[in-house]
Amino acid sequence: MRISSPKVVITSALLMAALFTVGCGKDTKTAEADKANVADQAESAKTDHQHGEWWCAEHGIPEETCGQCNAKFAAECQKKGDWCEMHDRPDSQCFVCHPEFKAKFAAQYKAKYGKEPPPIEDE
Ligand SMILES: [Zn+2]
Ligand SMILES: [Zn+2]
Repeated sequence: MRISSPKVVITSALLMAALFTVGCGKDTKTAEADKANVADQAESAKTDHQHGEWWCAEHGIPEETCGQCNAKFAAECQKKGDWCEMHDRPDSQCFVCHPEFKAKFAAQYKAKYGKEPPPIEDE
């Protein structure tokens, strides 16, 4: 049996070229993704928690002081006695007991972004 070698050579050359091109594009992307990952990791190491945003849209409080997301902050509040047992969150952040506090946190968002915060999801 005889393989028509010129055709095979051309085909594999084209295939190699195609693979090489795809490979190159992929490598560049992977490198970029790696860089982004490193940045993400540095960020989450700092905050020890990640929603990826300064604002906790779910609770209407800046992430780093969100007693429902930030366990460390919650522990500090509990130590200070700033805790609403009924709603399982810092009393100073319990918008159920103190609806007026919502505006206080919303003002922080407004000061930073110049607009109203997104509506809180669960209340
Ligand atoms: Zn939260
Ligand atoms: Zn409460």
